[in-house]
Amino acid sequence: MRVETKLVHAGEPRPRHERAVAMPIYQSSTFEYAGQADYHDLQYIRLNNTPNHAALHGKLAALEGTEAALVASSGMAAISSTLLSLLAAGDHVLAHDGLYGGTFDLLTQDLPRLGITASFVDAARPETWAAAVTPRTRVFYVETLTNPLIQLVALDDVARFARERGMVSVIDNTLATPINFRPVEHGFDLIVHSATKYLNGHNDIVAGAVAGSVARVTAVKHKLDHLGGALDPHACFLLHRGLKTLAVRVRYQCQSALEIASFLARHPRVVQVHYPGLERHPHHARARQWLAGTGGMLSFELDGGAAAADQLFGRLTIPLCAPSLGGPETLITRPATTSHAGMAPEIRRRQGITDGLIRLSVGLESTQDLIDDLAAALG
Ligand code: PLP
Repeated sequence: MRVETKLVHAGEPRPRHERAVAMPIYQSSTFEYAGQADYHDLQYIRLNNTPNHAALHGKLAALEGTEAALVASSGMAAISSTLLSLLAAGDHVLAHDGLYGGTFDLLTQDLPRLGITASFVDAARPETWAAAVTPRTRVFYVETLTNPLIQLVALDDVARFARERGMVSVIDNTLATPINFRPVEHGFDLIVHSATKYLNGHNDIVAGAVAGSVARVTAVKHKLDHLGGALDPHACFLLHRGLKTLAVRVRYQCQSALEIASFLARHPRVVQVHYPGLERHPHHARARQWLAGTGGMLSFELDGGAAAADQLFGRLTIPLCAPSLGGPETLITRPATTSHAGMAPEIRRRQGITDGLIRLSVGLESTQDLIDDLAAALG
């Protein structure tokens, strides 16, 4: 089956429950005991194994091409339980500069209290990585496309570098989605997602996902079962419904983002556009080689900095000024005041996230309407 067919049919119960074409919601916290020998197999919502979880796990594993998958109550629940399943006191994580702010805070503020440390490297320069490795480096953690500067790490090198040193490679594939990039095909061990974004795609739930081998996903499930970050069946249902249209949504958003990025790159008030679909982007060649599409996210800067950005937000009529991404509504933010507000200003600036940087998550509206709106507001 090709990806569009998997999105619709993979993981669906066969035969269908009560012949229902759409997966029904099993809103039951607990299920009758059926002789399970293992605690983690008791059917209970917190143990992530109700019929709604099972259907999603099958669909997500088929999409990412992995043996197994797991949903979680948020992207951060997926990321934190994945890392905690792999790390113990004294261990060290290698990660790249420019991680999503929540993950960066987890690695630099919470995990050190458990004796776990992290070092950050320039993901585009593999020759610099070895110097940051310690005898206790267990995990190499990267994001396919970074947020908000939309850079593309040296993906093949990350998986190879980790494998050669016995490290587990973990990749946050939220921005690329399995439509544009399937990390296991490039040797990655574990994939995490904020399913809040493109996988669900409707700006109406918070959810996370993990995919990988049965052994690794089972270890994450056991950690998640104890931490309690289970996805509620109703949210499972919405994620399941959203997933079916992932391919058509993401391809439209990629095309729209490319056209909007090209428009912005030509506009005299715009001093810089970060979008890997543009030829002038430093990672354009890499994006063409590895990604089926360059994503629905872009960022840019105006010649008037933060003040000009805020003025623009006040004049736009279609994009909503809100954090998050990947839904039908185009969302615009200044990361310095939203997604990356928790990061120390000097770290933000070192990573290239200026106060005036504007991030745009391109939605499903007409591309031309969005361009007309931007043109009017910029004018
Ligand atoms: N990873 C990336 C790339 C994100 O952008 C986000 C949220 O914005 C997360 C992880 C965290 O996901 P959630 O908000 O679903 O916990």
